[in-house]
Amino acid sequence: MENKVNFFDYDRVSLEAFFSSIDEPSYRARQVFQWVHRRKVINLADMTDLSVELRHRLSSLGSFELPKVVEERRSQDGTIKWLTTLWDGNIVETVLIPEVKRNTLCISSQAGCALKCAFCATGRQGFSRNLSTSEIIGQLWLAEEIVSNYRQEQFKLSNIVMMGMGEPLLNYSNVVSAMKIMLDDFAYGLSRRRVTLSTAGVVPGIDLLGSDCPVSLAVSLHAADDNLRSRLVPLNKKYPISVLLNACRRYSKNNLNSTVTFEYILLKDVNDSESDALKLTSLLGDLPSKVNLIPYNQVEGTGFMVPNIDVINKFRMILNDAGIITITRKTRGSDIDAACGQLAGRVDEYSNRQQNKKVPDEKVKISG
Ligand code: SF4
Repeated sequence: MENKVNFFDYDRVSLEAFFSSIDEPSYRARQVFQWVHRRKVINLADMTDLSVELRHRLSSLGSFELPKVVEERRSQDGTIKWLTTLWDGNIVETVLIPEVKRNTLCISSQAGCALKCAFCATGRQGFSRNLSTSEIIGQLWLAEEIVSNYRQEQFKLSNIVMMGMGEPLLNYSNVVSAMKIMLDDFAYGLSRRRVTLSTAGVVPGIDLLGSDCPVSLAVSLHAADDNLRSRLVPLNKKYPISVLLNACRRYSKNNLNSTVTFEYILLKDVNDSESDALKLTSLLGDLPSKVNLIPYNQVEGTGFMVPNIDVINKFRMILNDAGIITITRKTRGSDIDAACGQLAGRVDEYSNRQQNKKVPDEKVKISG
């Protein structure tokens, strides 16, 4: 593969640029996109609407390389978790959540995560590296292919959440490129409402995303005051709640007053009191928002516990009574460690020791 490109790394605009660079018309990109992402054909020899000469030429310049699924775990509730190994031995996790009316795939964007949220299994692994566009879109491609093979009929995902391992806005360029492929009519053709990016609150990334690729935004809030949030989500020290919510207001306003989803993991005796709920109502009052309450999924060694059901219901009622649409998310896949906050994968030890380094991305950086 030396000097060869991986065509999975290209969104359509960059694939068009590639074809221009080899003096081919840009519509070739649309042809290739349909073969690869719609028909799941990645053998250039089978792309029969390209000339034989062009197919030979393309195979001398690049190929379609995917990560490899090394393990599949199935939950009693139908959730499937795939462990996928990358070229350097890192392992990331992808989770399929089948429901009656939709099939949602939760995709990882980084091997490990540098943000170290207190309740999260990924954060405890440390950070290894950003995933490439091909490693991100490859998770989607593989999920559709694997399930289609099981079912012996074409399987299409209806919803994507960038909510797996890692902070997607700290791998901005590759994540945006992958999401553009998800939205592309010649690839997966998903609507912006059905692609959700979840962030711990990387404010510059939220602003950029609003103009580059305004998909549905979800924010991991988890606390209604800065002291507690800084303890649970250390990134809060850099971007405190007021700064974060202002970014959410801008995002919503610039995107037809779109609703921002706030994720709130309920931790027993930590952030689950009535006064926490009331504080949350005043924070979110003027923002088109909805809240997903997530009863905590056990992660060994964190010391956190899940509140009892009455506390969860009371918390939800306070928010709903204040006019904020609030649901309690059903826990899915906890028996296979696939539930929210439980994804750990396996990140390589060398990189693990580098976890305090700044995360490299050419467009979004956290300084200080
Ligand atoms: S919750 Fe998200 S941002 Fe926080 S450590 Fe886990 S993966 Fe990283």
